[in-house]
Order: sequence, then structure tokens, then C-alpha cells
Amino acid sequence: MFKFLKEKLSAFKKKLEKREEEIEKKKVEERKEEKEVREEVKEEREGKKVGLLSKIKTFVVEREIVIDEKQVEDILEDLEIILLESDVAFEVVEEIAAKLKERLVGRRRKIGEKLSDIVINELKTIIQEILDANRFDFDEFVQTRLREKRPLNIIFVGVNGTGKTTTIAKIAKRLMDFGYSVVLAAGDTFRAGAIEQLEEHGRRLGVKVIKHKPGADPAAVIYDAIKHAESKGIDVVLADTAGRMHTKKNLIDQLEKIKRVTKPDLTIFVDESIAGNDAVERARMFNEAVGIDGSILTKIDADPKGGTAISISYVTGRPVLFLGTGQEYDDLVKFDSKWLIDRIFGDI
Ligand code: GDP
Repeated sequence: MFKFLKEKLSAFKKKLEKREEEIEKKKVEERKEEKEVREEVKEEREGKKVGLLSKIKTFVVEREIVIDEKQVEDILEDLEIILLESDVAFEVVEEIAAKLKERLVGRRRKIGEKLSDIVINELKTIIQEILDANRFDFDEFVQTRLREKRPLNIIFVGVNGTGKTTTIAKIAKRLMDFGYSVVLAAGDTFRAGAIEQLEEHGRRLGVKVIKHKPGADPAAVIYDAIKHAESKGIDVVLADTAGRMHTKKNLIDQLEKIKRVTKPDLTIFVDESIAGNDAVERARMFNEAVGIDGSILTKIDADPKGGTAISISYVTGRPVLFLGTGQEYDDLVKFDSKWLIDRIFGDI
């Protein structure tokens, strides 16, 4: 997980350390020079020379411990490339760079404090702030909302092949582990295979799947699932939807109709973390076209980069709810910025 990004950040830190060593070396030379300046100041005090007191102040205070703009520009040049190569979306890279610049330029370094540590720690803090900007607790939401209405209707949107059906099954299993009852709605009527796929998950989990024939109106399928849940006192309807149709307009029209008819409590976008900027752009598109409440990123276990997870909530303004970490039903972790940061930065 995140091997590529971790290696890049590690190399980046080493480079900073090397640069720091060079600065230290320069400092030793400067100290020698400083001694000479002190001599000159002494002479200045004794009236032999003029105007050097201010020079020594700059020398000792600013040049030694204040991080200057040039240093930050050099750091950012390397870092921006690393982040872009790791699938962090351009606008998110810009945000990180601007914040880093704001926090580093002019900052005083304490004696013994390493520049590389300051930069890495600040970078971690900024990424964590970006990840935490849109927090949402799925479990709390389900618990609270069920006090007001039953069943809850949760629909899943996103293109095929990214792990959407598996994710629906994982969420079903998770809800059942918490003691809730669920029913699945086979709302991807565009592909016959999608209905069978969901049925297979239903069989394995012992969950009923409401389905119509391929090509049927998905809004009607989900509506039926809601009616079924109402009559049986089932807590949550989890509805699949088509990810692709003949045209994008068809797809959007269909999703809009589903939303209008079935009034979902949550619309969750699912995509795979390994798709990088493609996943981020799809999230943006689905959010703008139909509105999403949050995202689930699958295949995080197979993602060497990690940038998708960093970017998706920033770009959509909606939280990441869960991460898929494997093919088994239990391979689903509730999104936690600290968990992600620990995995990206590890022991760097
Ligand atoms: P859909 O077409 O979007 O419904 O995709 P599927 O649910 O059929 O998943 C496509 C493939 O991705 C399947 O082989 C899944 O087992 C696999 N998959 C789903 N989620 C994950 C995950 O979090 N990690 C890994 N490694 N594979 C996953």
C-alpha cells in the first residue's frame, strides 16, 4: 500500500537532510566569519569602525535560523512533482504548496530542529487538515436516522468494474454485524451480469435481493425494495445503480429519476483508488450531475500512490466514508485520516 509515494517521500526527506548538511557545513564556515565580524564589532565599539552591529544581528538571527522563501521554493519544486506523480489532483497540490509556503517562510528553527522534520511534519498536518475538512460518521448517521424513519435508502453510484457491487456487499455485512437488517436492490438493470453478481453476494450473505428483468426501470426496482423493507420491518435498503449506459446523458437522467422517485438518505459514490485522477474526475462529474454525500474508495490495498484518497474529498467537498482494503467482505475500513496518514508516511 502506497509504496510509490512512501519511497518518493523518503527520498525527498533524504534530499532535504543532505541539503541541511550542506547548510550546516556552510554555517561552520560562517561561524568562522562570524568570529571575524565579532572582532570587527569590537573594533566598532572601540570606535575604530562603524555600522556593523546591525550586520551581525542579521547574520546571527536571520541567516542561521529563519527559513527563507528561496529555501521553501526549492523544497516545493521537488514536493509538487512527487505529489503530482502520486496522483494528487493538481488543485490539491496547489493548496498543499500554498499552505506549506505560508507556514514555512519566515519560520524560526530552534537549535537542533531539522528542516526535513519540520517540512514532513507540516506536510502531514496539512494533508490531515484536508482529509478532515469533510468529516462524516456513517455509523452515527445510520443510528440517528433510523430513529426518524425506516427503512433507510442508500444508493451507490459510480462506473462498473471498480468494486461497487462488492462494496455494497461489504456495507451489508458491516450493517448486519452491527445488528441491522438489510435488503439489496439490483438497480443496475443495464447489465444482466450486474443483477447476477448482486444475487451471488446476496446468496453468500443470506440477504434478499429485489430484482426485475434486465432493462427494467431501476427506480421501480429500488421503490419495490423500499416497499419490501417497509412491509418486513427491514432497516436499510442498499441499492446498486448502473455505472454506464449508452450515453452519459442517459445515465444522468436515470440517476436523477432514481433520486426523485426513491429519495435516498445517502448517495454514495464508489470508485477505485488505483484509478488516480480518473477516479477524482469521475467523482467530480457524479457530484456535479446528481450530487453525492460521500465516497468509498476501493482497492486501496493495491494502490502504490495514495493521491486519490488525498484528493477526492477536497475536490468533491464530500467526505470519504470507507476504504476497501481487499476482496473479502470484512476488508472495509471506516475512513480515518490518521489511519491513512500513518500508512502513507509510515516511519518516514
Ligand atoms: P463492479 O463492477 O464495480 O460492481 O465491481 P465488482 O464489485 O465486481 O469488483 C470488481 C473486482 O474488484 C472484483 O474482483 C472484486 O473482488 C475486486 N475488488 C473489490 N473491492 C476490492 C478491494 O477493496 N481490494 C481489492 N484488491 N479488490 C477489490
